[in-house]
Amino acid sequence: SMLGSLGENLTNTMKKLAGMSVIDKKVVKEVVKDIQRALIQSDVNIQLVLKLSKTIENRALNEEPPKGITPREHVITIIYEEMVNLLGSEAKELEINKKPFKILFLGLQGSGKTTTIGKLCKYLQRKGFSPAVVCTDTWRPAAYEQLKQLTEEMQIQLYGDPENKDALDLAEKGLKQFKNQKIIIFDTAGRHKNEDDLIEEMNKLDKIIEPDESILVIDGTIGQQAGEQAKAFSQATDIGSIIISKLDGTAKGGGALSAVAETGAPIKFIGTGERIDEFEAFDPERFISRLLGMGDIRSLIEKAEEVIDEDKATKTMNNMLSGKFTLEDMKNQFEMMNSMGPMQQVMNMIPGLGAKVPKEASQMTEDKINSFKIIMYSMTDEEMKNPKIIKHSRITRIARGSGVDENDVKELLKYYNNTKKAMKGIGRRGMGGGAMNRLVGQFMK
Ligand code: GDP
Repeated sequence: SMLGSLGENLTNTMKKLAGMSVIDKKVVKEVVKDIQRALIQSDVNIQLVLKLSKTIENRALNEEPPKGITPREHVITIIYEEMVNLLGSEAKELEINKKPFKILFLGLQGSGKTTTIGKLCKYLQRKGFSPAVVCTDTWRPAAYEQLKQLTEEMQIQLYGDPENKDALDLAEKGLKQFKNQKIIIFDTAGRHKNEDDLIEEMNKLDKIIEPDESILVIDGTIGQQAGEQAKAFSQATDIGSIIISKLDGTAKGGGALSAVAETGAPIKFIGTGERIDEFEAFDPERFISRLLGMGDIRSLIEKAEEVIDEDKATKTMNNMLSGKFTLEDMKNQFEMMNSMGPMQQVMNMIPGLGAKVPKEASQMTEDKINSFKIIMYSMTDEEMKNPKIIKHSRITRIARGSGVDENDVKELLKYYNNTKKAMKGIGRRGMGGGAMNRLVGQFMK
């Protein structure tokens, strides 16, 4: 599993939290302790862990939950947000913005540099690019062969010459050969007589190639030492991205990621296995959701916030469930559908209700909703609040006003009546108010 036991421990903590009925100081402290333990086991720097846990605890105990958010959801959101901050908060993409776009790959031998070049090539191919690769590693005899095998499989052009021992000359020749390519990737040596010589060679290559992006590959299994490595390379050359490899199954991945993020260097990709497709763009939010076992919790929280923030929506939901359901509420409901997805989907989120959605509601298309909205614009306030009064002459007037057939107005009224009936039924079966809160709550389990 991702990051070995870290994911498992954090997921269990979140599950425990989701199951708590009361969130008090004791619970918050216990949860923070669990998180501390999990992160320290994953080799996250102690100072970072202490800072993080203090922030979570302070926020959880002092911040007022936003309106419509339960204390439990609030604490979950805080943990999520602070964990995302620990990893640098924002996803940073590799932007191919000129031609040729030159990428210089750096990394110590064994870090997974060569494998990662293959992975990035595949990733770029999927995006419609066809990168070319230049091998300047003159230190490891098998480097060229390994690249040749990788690139041949993907039908990617490779320039190299195992007989040539001059890395700078190889770089120049490769540049010339591929000058019309969209993307050129330069592999470099990961080892030298000594570290200074290696850094010197990287500096010279940097001057010759003038890369648009220097990518450093760091082995994730070294844990928080990855931070030192990122700093050392950053001093030698301007590192544009970092790729952390081997995050599959290592117990120290959390340490590697957080230490690198702390240096401010952008982690753009992660390697999650030996296979060429075990590679992904790094997005702290998505990564943390997965690590905490929360699925798409972020988007759900946002969606729920959008809805909950509006008094109108809450009122509509309460009216819907209590049977006091007007055309005004139905119009609001249509607007809510726009922000939360189709009715069927919204109702499916509430266990036990999925099957009970009125057939008409589940079959509502966007076109239908829009045509209903247009019809409602031709109604008076009085009609919207008290639809019972809409009879023959009113139907004729509304149809003419909105440019539709009288049958369309009748269809709208029928839909309204059926929905009202169904909603009343649901309300009586005990949904009561706070349906949206419960809806969000369900996703935490
Ligand atoms: P280089 O010396 O930096 O070019 O490293 P290589 O690309 O030859 O990789 C060294 C070893 O790490 C190889 O056995 C790779 O299969 C392995 N490796 C590379 N990336 C990953 C990864 O994301 N996960 C795992 N499990 N192994 C990896």
